[in-house]
Amino acid sequence: MALSNEAIVPLSLDRQQAERLDSAAEGLSKEQLIWSSGYLAGLASASGGVVQPAAVDGAAAAETTETLTILYGSQTGNGRALAETLYAQASARGVNAALVDMAEFTIRDIAKERWLAVIVSTHGEGDAPDDAELLLEYINSKRAPNLNALGFFVLALGDSSYAQFCQTGREFDERLAALGGTRLSDRVDCDVDYDAPAAAWFESTLDIAVDKMGSASADNAVARVPLQVVDNRPQYSKTRPFEAEVLANQRITGSGSTKTVHHIELSLEGSGLDYEPGDAVGVITPNPAELVAEVVDLLGIDGDFVSIGGESVTIEDALTHRLELTLNSGAFLTQYAALTGYDELATALDDAGQRQALLDDYQVIDVLRKWPFNAVSEARSIQSFVETLRPLTPRVYSISSSLESNPDEVHLTVAHVAYDAFGVAHSGVASTALIESFEEGDRVPLFIDKNPRFRLPESRDTDIIMIGPGTGVAPFRAFVQRRAESTGKGRNWLFFGDRQFDEDFLYQTEWQQHLKRHALDRLDVAFSRDQSNKVYVQDRLLENRAEIYAWLTSGASIYVCGDATSMAPDVHAALVSIVASEGGHSEEAANAYLKNMKRERRYLRDVY
Ligand code: NAP
Repeated sequence: MALSNEAIVPLSLDRQQAERLDSAAEGLSKEQLIWSSGYLAGLASASGGVVQPAAVDGAAAAETTETLTILYGSQTGNGRALAETLYAQASARGVNAALVDMAEFTIRDIAKERWLAVIVSTHGEGDAPDDAELLLEYINSKRAPNLNALGFFVLALGDSSYAQFCQTGREFDERLAALGGTRLSDRVDCDVDYDAPAAAWFESTLDIAVDKMGSASADNAVARVPLQVVDNRPQYSKTRPFEAEVLANQRITGSGSTKTVHHIELSLEGSGLDYEPGDAVGVITPNPAELVAEVVDLLGIDGDFVSIGGESVTIEDALTHRLELTLNSGAFLTQYAALTGYDELATALDDAGQRQALLDDYQVIDVLRKWPFNAVSEARSIQSFVETLRPLTPRVYSISSSLESNPDEVHLTVAHVAYDAFGVAHSGVASTALIESFEEGDRVPLFIDKNPRFRLPESRDTDIIMIGPGTGVAPFRAFVQRRAESTGKGRNWLFFGDRQFDEDFLYQTEWQQHLKRHALDRLDVAFSRDQSNKVYVQDRLLENRAEIYAWLTSGASIYVCGDATSMAPDVHAALVSIVASEGGHSEEAANAYLKNMKRERRYLRDVY
């Protein structure tokens, strides 16, 4: 990778210097580039003037021989991005650091670690990222080593809408301590709005690391700033989304279907945004006006101002654009119970089963309806209520297009979240807005949410098996489009499942065309409601067990996308059964086989 000269904005280099920097950077990995930026910043603060070549040999950026290993386990890429940030900050402060993906980590080497910063996420009902499974199993096993020499930090990522919030981080924290490691600071558990707590954790972790590891360059460290390599393309993020024009928004389930799924095409023209098959889009949509009006009514106030992040805004504005009103969370329930003093709610939260039911069944509005704030609000301010709510978070959708096949466009496959509960209609914020409010020509605020774990194999010659029921098929539309654009011997096999053949066969004609053109080699479908007994994608896998196993042994990769709660475990069980029966393995050995496939990045899941 070469840095373009125009990309280095704040420094003035002459052409020759810029070319030398370009050539020095060529071939460096992303991690090495990040390390180099800290290294150069270190040289700048140490030299006070022009850097001579000899100084490069003599002045190692980190004058300490100790290394802080930043070990991350990430499913969607957030943990990885945070680990990279910590690594860059460590380098800039002169801390000798190593950035290691748990997937690449030799588990027995945990015993050799002296300083360890673990960043790990939790998914669904307390699941560890696939890459963290082996290490977690090892430190939980009888073979786990003594870690008396270890000093560690843990940053846990999660979503407090799930009862097992930050479970994996908690397990790492507890096990590392139980094995003799020294906890150098209390674990920090981050909810979906993790930026601020993660930034504070970086700072305290590095303060302690500099202190404990005895960085000889610590005195200089505060003065060090990383070299700024500025990408001159516009950058869009959740705080600065791109306003993408709607090109098409059409229903793709039949009028007789029991659900509404839309195919939505958005323009990225002029944004400079790009993406790979497997990536997702974050969409930012306001809470519906009727919902906001009902909450205002339930609060018994009107026209008040509240402070959000130090900014004074009307309560209507806060509830429309800033705060979460649908997705429930453990953090909200606990704080709301404490604020309002409802005994019934507090008692329910103390019981694991009732707590789970509240998280699963109640939106924020349902809690307010059942335990109204205005009934107890005399001594409590609206500001204190507002502080119980999480920030409104973007909703993330798997991208269902490839950029090569659809230049300057991104496509989404969106199922309308709509159901009745407690005798009242409920709906999801973003799916309702995308399906009901956005018409051609309107603009949707979005950003690209990269997912580097969920990628096609590097070689087009590798076979792939894709399993995606319902809207879980979205990324596979992108995969097949990409594969149709390139040549290679790798075969493509899709398992799709949905409710009814006539109503819910998403993208049916496209799959047929791909089959005709051999961009898709096999398509197996399972329609669950066309007969009295349920037929699911895993039934089709089991019917094809010999062939599936033959594909696996010849190096195929498996991809699963969709529901994490029941579909992904059931599909996994089917794969275990196939590997066991066809390979003559025990169930334990079949599980180990699949774990190894995960480790080799040949069994990849994007499930939630
Ligand atoms: P859906 O209609 O809820 O389900 C699709 C099909 O899967 C139906 O035929 C359904 O059958 C069947 N199914 C139910 N339980 C199953 C199981 N244990 N194993 C296999 N199949 C099962 O589909 P949808 O509304 O499109 O939602 C799909 C799910 O994928 C949602 O949970 C969504 O959040 C998730 N999703 C995740 C991602 C991602 O992680 N990137 C992307 C897209 C979608 P019956 O309903 O008849 O039982």
